[in-house]
Amino acid sequence: MATVAVVGGGVTGLVTAIGSAQAGHRVRVLERGPLPNPGSTSADQHRVVRVLRPDDVDGTVRMAEARRRWAELESLLRTEFVRPVGVVSAGTPGELERAFGTARRAGVPASAVAPGALPAVLFPGGTSGIFDPGGAVLLADRFLRAAVGWLAAHPSVTLRPGCAVTGIDDHRVVLADGAAVDADVVLVAGGPWTSELAGPPVVLYRQTMVYLRPPPHLAGWWASAPGVGRIGGDGRAWLVPPGGGAQLKISSDAVCRPVPTTTAERDGEAWAARLLAEPILAGVEGYAVVGVKDCHYAADAVTGGPVLARIRPSVWARPACGGSGFGAAPLVAREFLGAVSQVDDKECA
Ligand SMILES: Cc1cc2nc3c(=O)[nH]c(=O)nc-3n(C[C@H](O)[C@H](O)[C@H](O)COP(=O)(O)OP(=O)(O)OC[C@H]3O[C@@H](n4cnc5c(N)ncnc54)[C@H](O)[C@@H]3O)c2cc1C
Repeated sequence: MATVAVVGGGVTGLVTAIGSAQAGHRVRVLERGPLPNPGSTSADQHRVVRVLRPDDVDGTVRMAEARRRWAELESLLRTEFVRPVGVVSAGTPGELERAFGTARRAGVPASAVAPGALPAVLFPGGTSGIFDPGGAVLLADRFLRAAVGWLAAHPSVTLRPGCAVTGIDDHRVVLADGAAVDADVVLVAGGPWTSELAGPPVVLYRQTMVYLRPPPHLAGWWASAPGVGRIGGDGRAWLVPPGGGAQLKISSDAVCRPVPTTTAERDGEAWAARLLAEPILAGVEGYAVVGVKDCHYAADAVTGGPVLARIRPSVWARPACGGSGFGAAPLVAREFLGAVSQVDDKECA
């Protein structure tokens, strides 16, 4: 049995804490805010998990595994937070052919979707869709609440909300009040704030999301609609369908911009107007805007993607989460747990 310290109570920290407790380790979760923290990147009505990663067979196989873990977590936590509605991605005939090839090689299902099958959604000219039935909407806030409840009831887990971490050493986490928490292995899962504590350089991004209420005559259609990606004027927009108490949400990488800090001056309204002008929804004027939210994520400065880095012999950090960091959290937990088991084996030897 190892002692595991997890800094940060977002999806990465909580999924890892659950896996660590299930593996029989002692776990401390140190979170500077409340648990769950509405200020974390993970806190939102929903996030999408996609299985099919066109042109990335290994990534697709890994995401199929992450998706299975989400189903296991749903049973473990006895809370419905996975909406298995699938995800459609738009693409040109050539792009879709390659995506079908990836699906075949990875052994995951996929099927063609004609744009007319999704009449409420605008497809970019010359594109149609590929349906990824393993894709799902994760009701993020609902998962976070259930995860905290499960961890709070677990005898080998200590949850410490309101506990800001100011320093990381090998086998040691230093707290704002000067106290220290010792651990065999540490995961720094501070989301976009991780790099303030540890890890390689990242670029911080802010992205604006708009929440909408569909017109009443489309409410029934939206109730079983899939997530849709690679739409909008330049194929960089996506939507998350309403359902399970969550609202319809749209966003686009076109309204994603680098910012120096998460507290940099707010400018969401102008970006929301730009988002609403994107060709994402047919008859968008019939939809009511019910909310606008800015959210931050960090990406690796070189690859633009997510990162899990070993920064000291006993310390791992997830400084860059990318735009698919929620769905991929079980993969981070798995990799981290592999490191914990190596520490455990050495101690037993
Ligand atoms: C607009 C937008 C849309 C997205 N959509 C998707 C999507 O559809 N699918 C998907 O898979 N991903 C998506 N993502 C990415 C995903 O939301 C994030 O990658 C993921 O939520 C990051 O989780 P995390 O636990 O690593 O970080 P966070 O959720 O940010 O949690 C970090 C926690 O660490 C705490 N913390 C930080 N510093 C300290 C400290 N010094 N001491 C103690 N605690 C600390 C924070 O308070 C916070 O609670 C999206 C991101 C954005 C911005």
